[in-house]
Amino acid sequence: MNKVKKNCPKCDLKYSIEPSFYTGSMYVSYGVGIAFAVATYMLLLIFGFADNPFTIFIAIVTVLAITFPYIGAVSKSIWAHLFFKYDKLIANQVKNDSGA
Ligand SMILES: [Zn+2]
Repeated sequence: MNKVKKNCPKCDLKYSIEPSFYTGSMYVSYGVGIAFAVATYMLLLIFGFADNPFTIFIAIVTVLAITFPYIGAVSKSIWAHLFFKYDKLIANQVKNDSGA
């Protein structure tokens, strides 16, 4: 699930700069998970369902269970963006090579 490609199909950039590099995205996914939990709580508050702690708990667990693959993917992307920087020169080369 959510496997990161070894290299960029366009510019051949190596995505895994070291073994188990994306394990670090766990830290990011914790933060993203909290954000989703807070968002769920806010929605419950807005729609008036936040009267019972058990309801809130079940709602948050359900939302996190459903969005878990998405959170994992987004976290890996955010994690990668902390280490890779955009290179305009290479981006232009890729653009020209694909003839678009
Ligand atoms: Zn690329």
